[in-house]
Amino acid sequence: MNNLYDSYTDDELWVVKESEWQPELQNIREAQFALGNGYFGSRASLEEMTKGCVPGFYLAGIYDKLTAQVSEIVNFPNPFNFKFSVGGEKIGNSTMDVISHKRTLNMKKGLLLRSTLFKGSKGPRFDYQSLRFISMDNKNVGVMRIEITPLDKDCTIDIQTGIDTSVYNIGTVTEGKKKHFRLKELGQHKNAGYLAVDTFEKKHSLIYWAGFYYEYAGKKTYAKDNVFKIKVKKKKTIVFTKVFYVKHFPSGKSHSRYKTQTFKKFNEVFHTKFSVLMNNHVQEWKNVWEKADIIIKGTANLQVIMRFNLYHMQICAHYDDGASSIGARTLSGEGYRGHIFWDAEIFLFPYYLYTYPEVAKNMLLYRYKRLDQAREIAKSLGYKGAMFPWESADSGCEETPTWAKDINGQIVKIFTNKMEHHITPDIAHAVSSYYLSTGDRKFMEEYGFEMILETARFCESRLEHNKKTGFYEINNVIGPDEFHVGVNNNVYTNMMFKWNMLEGCRIYYNLKKKSPGLCRSLSKKINLKEPEVRKWKNNAEKIKPFKMNRNKVIEQFDGYFKLKNVNFTETDENGVPVIPENIGTMDMSKTQFIKQCDVLMLLFVLSSSFKSEYVKANYDYYLMKTAHKSSLSASTTAAVACWAGDLYRAYHLFNVSLRADISNLYGNTNEGAHAASLGGTYQALILGFAGVRCSQEGLFVNPRMPRTWEKLIFNFCWKDCLIEFEISNSMVQFKIKSKRKKELMISVFDVPHMVTTNKAYAFTQELEKPRIEFYY
Ligand code: BGC
Repeated sequence: MNNLYDSYTDDELWVVKESEWQPELQNIREAQFALGNGYFGSRASLEEMTKGCVPGFYLAGIYDKLTAQVSEIVNFPNPFNFKFSVGGEKIGNSTMDVISHKRTLNMKKGLLLRSTLFKGSKGPRFDYQSLRFISMDNKNVGVMRIEITPLDKDCTIDIQTGIDTSVYNIGTVTEGKKKHFRLKELGQHKNAGYLAVDTFEKKHSLIYWAGFYYEYAGKKTYAKDNVFKIKVKKKKTIVFTKVFYVKHFPSGKSHSRYKTQTFKKFNEVFHTKFSVLMNNHVQEWKNVWEKADIIIKGTANLQVIMRFNLYHMQICAHYDDGASSIGARTLSGEGYRGHIFWDAEIFLFPYYLYTYPEVAKNMLLYRYKRLDQAREIAKSLGYKGAMFPWESADSGCEETPTWAKDINGQIVKIFTNKMEHHITPDIAHAVSSYYLSTGDRKFMEEYGFEMILETARFCESRLEHNKKTGFYEINNVIGPDEFHVGVNNNVYTNMMFKWNMLEGCRIYYNLKKKSPGLCRSLSKKINLKEPEVRKWKNNAEKIKPFKMNRNKVIEQFDGYFKLKNVNFTETDENGVPVIPENIGTMDMSKTQFIKQCDVLMLLFVLSSSFKSEYVKANYDYYLMKTAHKSSLSASTTAAVACWAGDLYRAYHLFNVSLRADISNLYGNTNEGAHAASLGGTYQALILGFAGVRCSQEGLFVNPRMPRTWEKLIFNFCWKDCLIEFEISNSMVQFKIKSKRKKELMISVFDVPHMVTTNKAYAFTQELEKPRIEFYY
């Protein structure tokens, strides 16, 4: 018996598995076991396209709109489809009896494996194994190998493959399913199939080449057609290998121009040995993990799930000169139509910034390239500068749908685009963090400074002057907590606006002093004069101060303290509050219950502006008011819990965020992995437990980890250096690798050190006895 499956599934700390066929879970598995290389992503539907499957094949940054309310990521034809029948019966999980079924996602190697034992209606059994990958090494390529062995009888297998064009976008309740592409050309050429499709509205072209060969009885045959029959003897294995090549071309170009060019590339790959394609791919994953892996020693279970989170951030990571960024559900599903939210800059961005700064840069370039649209949005609403859309797709225009129907048929109006304005300073904040940690001056001169100045300008123009008090206010907004709509002076929003205006001002005067030429040309480009910058500073200082009670608890927005003061009294097994049955989502707005952390979000994002006593007081107050009804909430609360010294709860909330998708905790992983919880989990681990903090003064490391974790080993990119950290509660070891930098300031256990690069350091501290004993 062959062992395709067994060859790649035994690396326990690197694999996630399904051990039986549960049709009701298949759409969740499709997202969990998704493959991708950033250029494209594919859901893990079974090859035979089972009943109820939701195949998905998405290209980063390719959206279309026709018949939809707003643009959505296009679900393109699926090249992983492959169908076999015997005696009129399809070999498949929904058509034959499944005696056993298992799949494994090998995250180390980026492989998806399957082994299923089928029994046909008339009794014969078939052993079916498959392996597929989306090449990390050649971004246009995908490969699939299938091995079939008739166990009981000789048989004739009917083969039908090709690229499945019957796919569609699932659509919302009111829009229904829809196809966003039209078939332009289809053909065969030298044992390969060719397919060209165009999207309806934006005319993106996608060209596919696919072909397969089979190996049987020692002979390798390139299939001339994709529909034919073949006889297979009992206990003999036939091996099919399908290779495809896919490439996107911008609108308006003729397909024939690209046909020959792409065929050449495809054909080269098609005639490369499977083992070579696979080795190149696996080697590239090895390179990825060398930098990306995080080792949590002492906890095997967390280790695998952490890798699952990192894996998902890797398969959607991409640099394409800002053509695309990462949607709220990555490239593993159609949730939120593939739109890009603040999830990208506030939650995901830090992971890339500290691991793959080039991906972080790409995310910012994506925004920069849509700065003109952001200017348009601001102008259309009577503001100045640049206001980024709440939901963004390819064009940079606002893509938030204005209404939707919920599952009960109720029309729900959506106000986030009109009110959730914090996204603009959130993006500016990411630009500033990028500069702080990479020191990439060129990026700032070409793009970053302009982004911060234009967003500062928007922020100032959005302020409302209250003549009575003399303060500036920001009214009628939604903060991160979306249970409370149309509130005044949401503190997260106000403080982020203030930060953006002051940062704009700081940058302007810095440039004026140190780079007057650049200051002049930039000011000319965006028509900025010094009095306007002075106004940013003046008005920022006069933004209505937030209200605080005597314990230093910050009021989330005007009037929040007057709302019904309630706390959750019960938590579920994950430590997440249970919403009392007598309170509906609509009633939440009348209470202090919040959807996701908001004041804590502020303390996390602008951590250097708040002293630790604020952290503790607000953490204690808001913890039991936060419903975590969004996947963005648990991770930030976990990090703040670490800072507040509540390691017990930090650990539980970290687990909630960590397991968001592996355990389908939000009940909608079928729509794709939750990008924000992937990135948030990373932040909770590194900025929370490992206690890494980046500031103008340098890098600070103050670990506060659960006692069962022996060590945390990770890489961290900072100031053009790669720092290899090994951390425990009592020891911080690191080696700084750098070609250009000579020394760095790193503070460990609250003691600053000027350290030399390319040397190893170790700092220890006496462990005090833990104040609270807890066990996991
Ligand atoms: C959250 C937002 C988030 C969006 C996309 C919403 O439920 O409240 O903060 O940006 O989902 O993930």
